[in-house]
Amino acid sequence: MKIDLHCHSSASDGKLSPHAVLQLAEQAELDYFALTDHDTIQGVLEILALESPVNVISGVEVSSVWMGIAVHIIGLDFDTDHPEMLSLLEKQRLVREQRALIIDKRLALHGMPNTLEGALTYCPDLGQIGRPHFAQFMVDQGFVKNHKQAFDRWLGAGKIGDVKSDWPDLNTVVAAINASNGLAVLAHPLRYKLTFTKLRRLMTAFQLSGGAAVEVVGHQVSDDKRQRLIQSVAELSLMASGGSDFHDPEWRWAQLGHIPPLPATLTPVWQKFRKVIEDKI
Ligand code: AMP
Ligand code: MN
Ligand code: MN
Ligand code: MN
Repeated sequence: MKIDLHCHSSASDGKLSPHAVLQLAEQAELDYFALTDHDTIQGVLEILALESPVNVISGVEVSSVWMGIAVHIIGLDFDTDHPEMLSLLEKQRLVREQRALIIDKRLALHGMPNTLEGALTYCPDLGQIGRPHFAQFMVDQGFVKNHKQAFDRWLGAGKIGDVKSDWPDLNTVVAAINASNGLAVLAHPLRYKLTFTKLRRLMTAFQLSGGAAVEVVGHQVSDDKRQRLIQSVAELSLMASGGSDFHDPEWRWAQLGHIPPLPATLTPVWQKFRKVIEDKI
């Protein structure tokens, strides 16, 4: 089964339009594909309206917080018109707007004026504003050399542009995904830089709140860490999901559809999708 259940378009911080991302999914001959933009389903609504040989599953990557740590939760196969999902996403939009105003003020105090206005020029009409849009503007203005420097100096964890936002807590996000008949997936668990003990606590809390699956493939991690993660996911009887976290065709390390198969020891999350297709393997 060829899948990619974690990808971004220009509806949030991805480079390509939703339609262009779908075309890549078609070229990759995916069986299941989910566009999971940050806190918005605008792109998903666009591509769900198109005819495609790929089975498009609704998706979103929701920013949340657990024990003071920013954690991303992917929603899959939910009803895109469900009031609980729409209300969650409307709140996320407001949080992002408020956060962007604070980032703008803080950067201005450090000699970088009008960054919000600049960031918005990289953020198409319906797109969700995020730190990558600020980073792009800062690069183009010559404030920093590249995206990495923008995050390392100003926007990344612990820096002034890493504004502690009012993201909803993990339980609230999982509850909204479940209420809208979707499946909640813990995104890139090894990227939170937690000890394994703390990660295990996060996964347990996630499962208790009604979470369904954990991403176990699709990001750069050592085999050793991945094996430990897979073991924990199995012990907790959570399902497995996977995605490339595609943003930009120039990011060679995250190409759409380029993910290893899910481990045979875990139940794949797509077994719970409402569009059932035969497994060709
Ligand atoms: P936001 O949604 O505004 O919180 O921004 C998070 C996004 O910024 C992530 O989804 C990545 O695409 C990008 N990002 C986060 N950290 C870094 C980093 N250190 N370098 C480059 N991009 C990053
Ligand atoms: Mn992103
Ligand atoms: Mn993420
Ligand atoms: Mn992502």
